[in-house]
Amino acid sequence: MEFLKIQDLCKVYGKDGNQVTALDHVSLTIEKGEFTAVIGSSGSGKSTLLHAIAGVDKPTSGKIFLEGQDVYAGSNEKLAIFRRRQVGLIYQFHNLIPTLNVEENITLPILMDRRQVNEERLNDLLDLLGLQERRRHLPNQLSGGQQQRVAIGRALMNAPAVMLADEPTGSLDSRNGQEIIRLLKESHTKYHQTLIIVTHDENIALQADRIITISDGKVVRDVRQEARA
Ligand code: ADP
Repeated sequence: MEFLKIQDLCKVYGKDGNQVTALDHVSLTIEKGEFTAVIGSSGSGKSTLLHAIAGVDKPTSGKIFLEGQDVYAGSNEKLAIFRRRQVGLIYQFHNLIPTLNVEENITLPILMDRRQVNEERLNDLLDLLGLQERRRHLPNQLSGGQQQRVAIGRALMNAPAVMLADEPTGSLDSRNGQEIIRLLKESHTKYHQTLIIVTHDENIALQADRIITISDGKVVRDVRQEARA
């Protein structure tokens, strides 16, 4: 069974004379544990693709299967559970809750899902992200890079099947940006986490196993890179 299968995906925004085709018959298969970079110019459809995979933006036609599950086939409730448990989504701006501390922000999705926090995983993640000393700090007491690390922790806490990052370094300087990529790669290696990153940054894309280029809503290039040391 393919891990992530995207089948003839189309997304059209707007109505009548005002239509924009954001995705135009995209088909792709992504393997478990693969680190994929999605590149392409602004407006080419990268975020739309990521949001379709994340279960947050329903495609106009076509299908997405994650571990054999047809993502948009069930009820809205089933889709909400899919979003909470199967995907970890990271944005350019971290969307942390300002009144919750680091630990509370990271565990929020678990608590909202009425599940028990796995303390061992939480500790493991705080170590991985270098946030152990900051676990009781509020977001406004952290640097931009640290806040983005909390967002990564929140996305990883659920051990999602796939981690999706939309320009995760876009709001950071290059040193902090590189640190975020290092952490994403480390979680990819440590947890065999499937990772899809949308990026403008060629240096980030070159670190991926595979680079998919989107132009006008179509996949125009799909290259697997040589294994790197
Ligand atoms: P990228 O991430 O590559 O910059 P997007 O996926 O955000 O591109 O957008 C693809 C196209 O779809 C663009 O032309 C954009 O203007 C359009 N688009 C994206 N979201 C919406 C929306 N909610 N309503 C209308 N058009 C949209």
